Amino acid sequence: MTDDPRAKRIAELIAPLRVKPGSQVDLPHDFDPAYTLKGLKKKDSVGQMETGIAMLADYQARLAAQDTYGVLVCLQALDAAGKDGTIKHVMSGVNPQGVQVHSFKVPSSEELNHDYLWRYAQRLPARGDIAIFNRSHYEEVLVVRVHPENLDRQKLPDECKGKGVWERRYREINDWERYLTDNGFKVVKLFLNLSREEQRARFLKRIDLPEKNWKFSAADARERERWSDYQEAFSQMLSATSTPWAPWYVIPADRKWFARICAGAVLIDTLIEIDPRYPQVSEETRRQLLEVKQELEAQAPKGAPADPFEAGHAGQPARPASARRGSAGRGSAGR
Ligand code: ATP
Ligand code: MG
Repeated sequence: MTDDPRAKRIAELIAPLRVKPGSQVDLPHDFDPAYTLKGLKKKDSVGQMETGIAMLADYQARLAAQDTYGVLVCLQALDAAGKDGTIKHVMSGVNPQGVQVHSFKVPSSEELNHDYLWRYAQRLPARGDIAIFNRSHYEEVLVVRVHPENLDRQKLPDECKGKGVWERRYREINDWERYLTDNGFKVVKLFLNLSREEQRARFLKRIDLPEKNWKFSAADARERERWSDYQEAFSQMLSATSTPWAPWYVIPADRKWFARICAGAVLIDTLIEIDPRYPQVSEETRRQLLEVKQELEAQAPKGAPADPFEAGHAGQPARPASARRGSAGRGSAGR
């Protein structure tokens, strides 16, 4: 356990949202979409969010510099649960060079010509990167399950569909995520859990405000009619695919401000776990750098400081090498 109070608060915040691997989830019964942390008010959320965004920016810079681990964030939700807004707000402070967002829609004919994980595998993050899947391979056990005609379109041989197909997919997805984890790619899974009534209110807002009209389609209202089928598909997905290596987090989504804090917190918790460090150069490289430093200092024009950076920091204590490497992970007291 870390002695960093922020890391500890984050761990406590997200613990009730984690789906215990092996547990049987009954979504409407087990998770309240309107849940918030007792005592946390919307007006306090701005400061919390700023802290979270700054922590994410710092960790992402180190993740990229270390170039060893990658992070895949899977976002699943019903329409209007706030996937887009979550991505926009949570990732607002990170360097766009290290983050990719991929949205998955109805598969193309090229995609249908391959195995079902093919299109997702092509968009996995590189080491050092964070990839966000806005909808993910989990659509393959959600919309495809609720609307089986999607499965028909997948051109599977007869012996590969029918009985047991969903259990097989759960196993394949778990194996795939384990393979990724074993190779240094952490999988973060967020399910934004919206209530039926809050979805109704958000749909109406999208209809009432002309600038939101583009976000709404009649198909969204049709999907809503399958509410209980989706709740059942979500429950089974959460039960079968929350694993020790890639657990699901059910994010209460009725209050956007709280959902964003929680989504950010889960991602930060993963990065704390990875604890990425800035690479250290070898003694030999360090010696070479000091030689170059001497040459550069010798080139100082008359009257100019030999090393303007050092001169600017004169009087301040030199930062220890550990701080320059950015050792702020679990167990460090630096944050
Ligand atoms: P927005 O919030 O902007 O509405 P969205 O993610 O809902 O974003 P849409 O273009 O409205 O994007 O919808 C994408 C649709 O693609 C969803 O209805 C989703 O269920 C569907 N889809 C995603 N993956 C698959 C799949 N593998 N098979 C069939 N349909 C899929
Ligand atoms: Mg949509």
